[in-house]
Amino acid sequence: DTLTDSFKNAIGKIRFHDDEKALKKATDELKKSLLKADVHHKVVKELIKAVELDTKKNGIGKEQFMAALQKELTDILTIEGAPKGFTFASKPPTVVLMIGLQGSGKTTTTGKLAYFLKEQKKKKVLVIAADLQRLAAVEQLKQITSQIEVDLVADENASPETIVKQGLEKAQKELYDVVLIDTAGRLAIDEELMDELARVKEVAEPDELFYVADAMTGQDAVRTAQTFKEKIGITGVVLSKFDGDSKGGVALGLSEQVGAPLRFIGAGEKMPDLEQFIPDRIVSRLMGAGDVESLAEKAAAAIDPKEAKKMTQKIKKGQFNFNDFLDQMEQMKKLGSMKSIMGMIPGMSGMAKQIGDLDLENSAEIKMIKAMVSSMTAKERENPDLLDNMRKRRIAAGAGLDQMQVNRVLKQFKNAAKMAKKLSGKGGMKQMQDLMK
Ligand code: GDP
Ligand code: MG
Repeated sequence: DTLTDSFKNAIGKIRFHDDEKALKKATDELKKSLLKADVHHKVVKELIKAVELDTKKNGIGKEQFMAALQKELTDILTIEGAPKGFTFASKPPTVVLMIGLQGSGKTTTTGKLAYFLKEQKKKKVLVIAADLQRLAAVEQLKQITSQIEVDLVADENASPETIVKQGLEKAQKELYDVVLIDTAGRLAIDEELMDELARVKEVAEPDELFYVADAMTGQDAVRTAQTFKEKIGITGVVLSKFDGDSKGGVALGLSEQVGAPLRFIGAGEKMPDLEQFIPDRIVSRLMGAGDVESLAEKAAAAIDPKEAKKMTQKIKKGQFNFNDFLDQMEQMKKLGSMKSIMGMIPGMSGMAKQIGDLDLENSAEIKMIKAMVSSMTAKERENPDLLDNMRKRRIAAGAGLDQMQVNRVLKQFKNAAKMAKKLSGKGGMKQMQDLMK
């Protein structure tokens, strides 16, 4: 958010064609906000210099400045020839070792990655619990993997090496596409941790070593990553807790500083809160221009086209019922947070900020509807018109609501269904646009 704002401000400083003073003002503004966002000063210096040169070469102006900024940002985020997002080994299974300090988000990120690979890439994923330092760690991974319905290999009494060996044998035999290995961390780097990781690495022979870095720790995350890279090796970085703002600027310099590409960004505690880090898409989003490609990929994975068609037809006929509503909520959940969706729509990044951390699923309204639906019979869910006063009283009592609340929600639901029917008909798009005016 802050970076997008500061880019907009900087661009706004350039008003007149061919004015070096304006350019200086713009780059000063840019420098200030990049430093404030905890981008490393060397990275800032390089970036500013390159943007200045680029702009001057093409004649000073708003568009030239924007183009230069876009190009140079993409450049510092890109490591030539390095993989972007997730890449699969030529021979399955692709083995990924997750490493990092304790509390950085390894276990959560392991779950998010498994979810991403299963839902978006349609892969068969196996997770191995090789953090045997703390009993709670295995329990945490059990909960996560059962929630997302991904297989787990765990044994509290085995050594990390043995469990990894067992897991890999299972993956070979049962033809898994990807194996994710969650490992132990420490609060700080020490010999024991590095030795254990080195042993696990030897057994695992990983295709990828993903270092999970906590974005909230800013430049410390970079320094620790450099040490892990020296001692164990890193093929990619996942920046977690990116939702915790302030030090987000660390993402800009990270790839260049560590010498390993940033591959994913985690921005929330829930399983869909993981984004592939693809430099030109991220830059587009940073410049407030949206990221339609990522949005389309997410939507394609979450929404079954057959179901979507069936739903549209139901809406057109005015038959949208409570079961459909619950189905739609489930699909929305797979898309991730409302805020991140808005950021991907061109021109909507401003709105994303206003929405903040709105949690649609847990909003008071949705909770009320869910409580009501759970007190309905199957027939009532299929046909909202059945609900007479007696039924409403029963539902209200069952859901712990009063009858006024039930009436209000029902009315809203019927209005929404009516509106959806209207908008899905001929000229619906035009009506929608009129409504937004
Ligand atoms: P590990 O010790 O490296 O395995 O770290 P965990 O995966 O257990 O995560 C530590 C804490 O950070 C947990 O409370 C997670 O819910 C939280 N966490 C992890 N990733 C994110 C993220 O992207 N955003 C937020 N807000 N919290 C996160
Ligand atoms: Mg853990």
